[in-house]
Amino acid sequence: MPRILTGIQPSGTLHIGNYLGAMRPAIDLQERGDAFYFIADYHALTTVRDAKALREHVLRVALDFLACGLDPAKACLFVQSDVPAVTELSWILSTVTPMSLLEKCHSYKDKIAHGIAADHGLFAYPVLMAADILLYDSDLVPVGRDQKQHVEVTRDIAIKINQQYGEVLKLPQPVIREEVATVPGLDGQKMSKSYKNTIDLFLEENVLLKIVKGLKTDSTPVEAPKDPDQSNIVALYRHFAPVEDLARMENDFRQGGTGYGEFKNRLFEAIRDHFRPFAERRAAILAEKNYVEKVLHEGRDRASAVASVTLRRVREAVGLERLV
Ligand code: ATP
Ligand code: MG
Repeated sequence: MPRILTGIQPSGTLHIGNYLGAMRPAIDLQERGDAFYFIADYHALTTVRDAKALREHVLRVALDFLACGLDPAKACLFVQSDVPAVTELSWILSTVTPMSLLEKCHSYKDKIAHGIAADHGLFAYPVLMAADILLYDSDLVPVGRDQKQHVEVTRDIAIKINQQYGEVLKLPQPVIREEVATVPGLDGQKMSKSYKNTIDLFLEENVLLKIVKGLKTDSTPVEAPKDPDQSNIVALYRHFAPVEDLARMENDFRQGGTGYGEFKNRLFEAIRDHFRPFAERRAAILAEKNYVEKVLHEGRDRASAVASVTLRRVREAVGLERLV
């Protein structure tokens, strides 16, 4: 059974980009492998500086992931910092990581361009991510396209370790679903928690409607034909609407005579209906006291057991264990 691993940062509220690009693929894959899914709180420290907010985000990410269908009987859900071995592995990996490898990473450059402080944690983030993946001997890593390069960096680092010390680390593969690789945000750029362009999961209906109405559109008049392939609205609608509704929207775009306001209403309804059963499950989880904490504790124990075996192997290989 392949080991499958993915992480989500508690850097804010989860959005439909996270859902389509990472959570839904991960939830589908939990049926087909030994799944380890974690909440990347060490990573989130690079952007969240408020301790209370970080704690709240961690629990909310866990809750929302469970509500969307993560089954703790199949997938191990845990908090990254509950298994601190990852930071030790990260250090060991950083000793073989060329600066030039990190200097090439787009995600760092994109975040800097969005005004996020260029501190060392943000720069070194791909090394910690490599440690996340390698610590759990992962085979498959379902991610959005923005993370593809980081999985490649992970492979490069693992190869360096293996060349130096023998076959110590397993090389992972990214799993990217092309159709949801980069879900656009309200402004048409990649939807990102830290870019303030998100449609969040589990919004109140009136808030969701208001946000969907805020999608950026051009000034084509109502009566004019429009190109569905150029539209944010269609790009999002296709993931939530039944095929016949999508075909109708594409047709109405080409015909002209329908305004963006109407198309946004249809998108709002499709998102609302898609998440309705998950919202019900979410309410049920919330009603069960300490359920989320219990899942995270069990997850920590399972993850720690795997992590300690790998870390021991690496420590022995590099000479940190004093063998008797
Ligand atoms: P941040 O802005 O803090 O980096 P984020 O919204 O990019 O947050 P992450 O926690 O970094 O979310 O990413 C979690 C997972 O969601 C990753 O696998 C990432 O590739 C995926 N993902 C994030 N945004 C999108 C998107 N717009 N489309 C597809 N996948 C996405
Ligand atoms: Mg991100």
